[in-house]
Amino acid sequence: MADTLTSPMHVEIISPDGPIYVADGVTMVVARASDGEFAIMKNHLPLASALDMCAVRIHTGNKEQKVAVFGGFLENKDNKVTIIAPLAELAENIDEARAIEAQKRAQERIKARKAGTDIERAKLALQRAIVRLKAIRN
Ligand code: ATP
Repeated sequence: MADTLTSPMHVEIISPDGPIYVADGVTMVVARASDGEFAIMKNHLPLASALDMCAVRIHTGNKEQKVAVFGGFLENKDNKVTIIAPLAELAENIDEARAIEAQKRAQERIKARKAGTDIERAKLALQRAIVRLKAIRN
């Protein structure tokens, strides 16, 4: 177990648009399921889990890549982590101003509760904006 923190894993994040992120040499992946955040390191037991919308963190040496993942599924097997998601965005491709606007819009819709507003839709939009901002900021 001495090499757990330095030994590499292979990671792929795939969306309907194709592979969003592919890397070797990954030491840790942190993602979130409905029961909370979890981390995967080398030699983790095989795992399959549905994912919440979350900012996935991928550590490679002392670098961290963040990817906003909007649901989907994670599988870990034989030191290969695969995430398949309906939508995934690398932090560096996220437009912060757009996410801030989307967050404000959704918050205002939820607060105003006007007749005809689809509150569930507004809540999902708010969650997407929060995850995008988390991927950029934290
Ligand atoms: P908005 O109201 O700003 O469109 P949204 O959450 O409704 O936000 P989505 O429906 O989740 O947007 O995404 C539509 C498309 O726009 C997707 O391709 C998504 O990757 C892209 N997108 C949405 N928000 C951003 C952002 N802040 N930065 C970069 N791409 C974004």
